[in-house]
Amino acid sequence: MAHWQDFYTESGLPPVINASGTMTGLGASIARPEVAEAMASILPRFVNMHALQAKASEAITRLTGGEAGFVTCSASAGVTQMVAATMTGCEPSLVERLPSSEGMANEVVMQLGHMCHYGAPVEQAVRLAGARVVPVGTSTLAQEYSLAGSITEKTAAALYVVSHHVVEYGQIPLDRFVAICHARNVPVIVDAASEYDLGGFLETGADIVVYSAHKFLSGPTAGIVAGRKDLVRAGYMQNMGIARGMKVGKESIYGTIAALEAWERRDHAAVRAREQAALEQWKEAASGLAGVLAEIVPDPTNNPLDRLRIHMNPREAGASVKALAHAMAAGDPPVIVRAHESELGWIQLDPCNLIDGQAEIVAQRLRETLERAARSGLEEPKYDGDAGVRAYMNWPD
Ligand SMILES: *Cc1c(COP(=O)(O)O)cnc(C)c1O
Repeated sequence: MAHWQDFYTESGLPPVINASGTMTGLGASIARPEVAEAMASILPRFVNMHALQAKASEAITRLTGGEAGFVTCSASAGVTQMVAATMTGCEPSLVERLPSSEGMANEVVMQLGHMCHYGAPVEQAVRLAGARVVPVGTSTLAQEYSLAGSITEKTAAALYVVSHHVVEYGQIPLDRFVAICHARNVPVIVDAASEYDLGGFLETGADIVVYSAHKFLSGPTAGIVAGRKDLVRAGYMQNMGIARGMKVGKESIYGTIAALEAWERRDHAAVRAREQAALEQWKEAASGLAGVLAEIVPDPTNNPLDRLRIHMNPREAGASVKALAHAMAAGDPPVIVRAHESELGWIQLDPCNLIDGQAEIVAQRLRETLERAARSGLEEPKYDGDAGVRAYMNWPD
């Protein structure tokens, strides 16, 4: 069998080991072989795209319990198309009028604590449809009266974001959010791009749920929309309007169907066991060192997934967790860890996207780097508030 490094040698692309989870910046996730096969099989064929999307609707309906569904080019596009749907309904002249939303109910309410950044601001996906965002509450507190008070005759929809990126406290629970919106005839769209639970959000009564196909489903780069049939149809209709520039190809639609079918057959317990073995190995690699504490922690939004959280006391451990993340990524091959919360004094290692043989490399890198920190310290990265954008500013150089 080919070694995982062969691809990098052949393509000339720099190798990378992803211990950070599903990350768009690293190519999202490892697509299943069934997905790759399905995509290759449809690429050289013509198909009736409405029939293909209707087939996708059947698979989506079966897995989510929604009345209908369709595939988009990304979850982000799914949010934009579904916001558009709540403004235009199935009226083609309105579909073509967007992003000008004059004369339509065009406001979308969302809690301020949900306005996160997943590589782009979530609220921009709302504005892209021509809607106006109405923030509810303050950065860390949204109360029910604020939501109720923000809804007017101009309200088209309410958006609810489920994510480890959102504020974890002081937010309105989804079932209450839905009840308040429904009492005022406002449909609720749930952005659950990165969630495992394919049925639970619609069960709360939410009208629409949006997922990524390229996160836990290990599918192609695509989005999945499911829920109320009239809204799903109106969302699908945006393909003759603003969503033309967000076109999803036949290969991604067919690949998403294959990913959903593979999800139904997947031995989830075996996947968990493999992930746990990697976590135990990494925990062992981080043990017995002064000022270093490693613990296995559950996912914050209840996905059935654990991660290894590593805390460091810089005075005893010789370096900060930021320096640890930096040093692990500077090795050959780079090992990318989950460091977006490193200001809190910990980083995490995520086992969900490893190829055979990589867990050992991560364990070795972790041990070596921690031992080096204890011996002689690590270079402490300076605060760099624009690190994320620099890769864009300097690209393609
Ligand atoms: C990843 C993510 C998105 C974006 O999903 P894409 O399919 O990559 O567009 C949107 N919302 C949340 C909460 C996410 O985690």
